[in-house]
Amino acid sequence: MKKYIVLFLLILIGTFSLKAISDFKKTTEIGSIYSSKEYAQTLRKDLFSLMMAYPKYIIDIEIVNNDQVYLVLKSGQKLLYDDKKEKSQSEKLENPDLQDMMEEVYFLGPIDRLMPQNYNPGRLRVYPLLKEVYGSHQSEIEKNLTGITINGGHHRFNHNNSAANFLKSAITELNHLAQDHPALWGYMYPIGGTYNFRHIAKTNRLSPHAFGISIDLASNKNDYWQWTTRAAGEKRLKTYPEAIVEVMEKNFFIWGGKWGQFDILHFEYRPEIIIKALYFNNEKKDLWYENLPVEDLRVSNTIWLIEERLQQFPAASPQ
Ligand SMILES: [Zn+2]
Repeated sequence: MKKYIVLFLLILIGTFSLKAISDFKKTTEIGSIYSSKEYAQTLRKDLFSLMMAYPKYIIDIEIVNNDQVYLVLKSGQKLLYDDKKEKSQSEKLENPDLQDMMEEVYFLGPIDRLMPQNYNPGRLRVYPLLKEVYGSHQSEIEKNLTGITINGGHHRFNHNNSAANFLKSAITELNHLAQDHPALWGYMYPIGGTYNFRHIAKTNRLSPHAFGISIDLASNKNDYWQWTTRAAGEKRLKTYPEAIVEVMEKNFFIWGGKWGQFDILHFEYRPEIIIKALYFNNEKKDLWYENLPVEDLRVSNTIWLIEERLQQFPAASPQ
């Protein structure tokens, strides 16, 4: 009998120590992700892209409890950079943090194949940030709208954070191009729509059209992943004029044609995604700001602020 009790105790101790070892492994693995050089660099690149994209609305960075990085907004609201939770794709869509929103890299320039189904850079949106910048509810958003005449039609767009100005400059350039390349007209007009206070089809999430930061150009039945097959969508993608995408991206609009769940007629003003794509491709650099035009005062001031605020941050320094 005694023998059995000893055996039982040994098994019990063994089980506990195995569990302790695997728990220890888990924490050190997680710990090492957050203290890795790569994480430290990505964090700084994301903060830089966000601060450059929303200069009047993101005013500072704050570290809480030594390991939580917050963006401080003009209203005093603070947004956590990384909640460090494992999330499924649908949980990310419902409740992304800033790190989730910035994670999938957007590629600038022409593409002729659809992205994989689950690759949708820029489709995650941190709503508290959009609400801070463009208006927190319908009537506040509508106060921030301005009318733009596009090809004789009247369209409303949000003037905050220069969104409407960049749309105007993109449309002016495209109209100019279309004079020499008349095939562009059919892809641009009639405009599908700009501001529209609505939810994304079959979801409870507000559409970016509800903030007045998106434009749908001329519509085609194969433009949207839920209207058509991937093969037909890809065929449409291959015919889509590169000039339209290039001009829109130059003005800080991302293109729904670069989402695996494609939305080819859709362009959305998302300067943080374009800035990250512009300056931080996947090349590994020793210094995270190596590629940046530091002669630009806004750029060097932003780098300085990030380095200053994060110098106490426990994640490994990027240098
Ligand atoms: Zn749209």
